[in-house]
Parts: sequence; C-alpha cells; structure tokens
Amino acid sequence: MFISIDGDKCMGHGRCYSVAPDLLSDDEQGYVAQCGQTFEIPEGLLEQAQEAADACPEGAISLLDHARADA
Ligand code: SF4
Repeated sequence: MFISIDGDKCMGHGRCYSVAPDLLSDDEQGYVAQCGQTFEIPEGLLEQAQEAADACPEGAISLLDHARADA
C-alpha cells in the first residue's frame, strides 16, 4: 500500500502527523513534511496511514494500491 499527499490540497492543519507520528512529520511551517510525496507505507503502519487520511480535513491524503505515475 502507498500513501499519497497532495501538495495542492494540504493546508497545514497538522492533523495527519498528529495521528500518524511514526509515518509523517511536520516541516517548520506546520505543513506535513511529506507534502507532495507518494511513498510505500512501512510494515505495521497501515492503521496510522488510514487514520491520517481520515483526519485530513482537506482530503489531501489518499491510500493507493499502487503508486501512480502522476501522483
Ligand atoms: S492534515 Fe491534511 S492539510 Fe493538514 S498537514 Fe496533513 S495533509 Fe496537510
């Protein structure tokens, strides 16, 4: 499973890295540091990834079976 964070949608609410501290981190402006990235979810962190996706009020976080070329 992959997690994809849409850099155009992220508004820096910071909920994602609060609920998924082992997966995501914040940058110095309060945005998720992984903004605009798609990467494979490490073993054991799928639940945190799902919680991060559910917590984002902008719908910026998607979970994908495969990394998309355009992501
Ligand atoms: S919760 Fe959503 S809007 Fe907020 S920092 Fe995370 S990805 Fe960005």
